Amino acid sequence: MFSFHPVKHIACGEGGMVTTNSKKIYEKLMLLRTHGISKKNIKGDHGAWYYEMQNLGFNYRLTDIQATLGITQLAKNPNGIIRRNEIAENYKRAFEGLVKYQSLPEGILNAYHLFVIEVDNRKGLYNHLRSRGIYAQIHYIPVHTLQYYKEIGYHAADLSNAENYYNRCISLPMFPSLTEEEQNYTINEVKYYLNK
Ligand SMILES: *Cc1c(COP(=O)(O)O)cnc(C)c1O
Repeated sequence: MFSFHPVKHIACGEGGMVTTNSKKIYEKLMLLRTHGISKKNIKGDHGAWYYEMQNLGFNYRLTDIQATLGITQLAKNPNGIIRRNEIAENYKRAFEGLVKYQSLPEGILNAYHLFVIEVDNRKGLYNHLRSRGIYAQIHYIPVHTLQYYKEIGYHAADLSNAENYYNRCISLPMFPSLTEEEQNYTINEVKYYLNK
C-alpha cells in the first residue's frame, strides 16, 4: 500500500494506491473502492444499465485530477530521492558523533521519507526550533497510547521501547526543495540548543 498524502514522495493531495499480484484481492479491491457495485455475475434478465451491489464498499476513487498530479510526481521521484539523500548526507556529516540518527547497512537505499534524530530533551528542542521558525515534527505517537486503542485493550501493552523512542525522536526538515541555506540554519539551531 502506498500513501499519496501531501508529505509523501509521491503526493496527489490525498489518497493512495494498493498493488497486488493476487487476482482475488484485485477483484475484491475493485468492488470495495466503488460501493461494492459490479456489473459482473448479474442474475436475471435486466437491461445493459443494470448493476448489482454485491458487497458493502465505499467511495475510494482517486479523482482524475489527482491522478494527473500523481503521474507528474512519479516522474519527479527519482530526482527527489537523490536530493533527499544529499540532504541526509549533510545532516549526518553535521551530526556525526554528536547526535544519534538512523543508519542503514552499507548498500541499502534509504528513500528518506524522514530524517529523525534522537535527543534527551526532545520537547525543549522542538520548542526551540519552532521559536526559530523551523517546523520539526514528531513521528510517530505510539498507536497503543492513543485513546481509541487504549479503550479497545491496548492500555496494558508493554511497549517500552516504542515509548522510549517516542520520547526522544524528532524529525528535521526533509524535502527536495529544502535549500542548503535553510538546512544549515536548521543544523546550527540544533547544535546551538544541544550545546546550551
Ligand atoms: C503518511 C502520513 C499521513 C497519511 O497517511 P495515509 O495512510 O495516507 O492516511 C498523515 N500524516 C503523516 C505525518 C504521515 O506521515
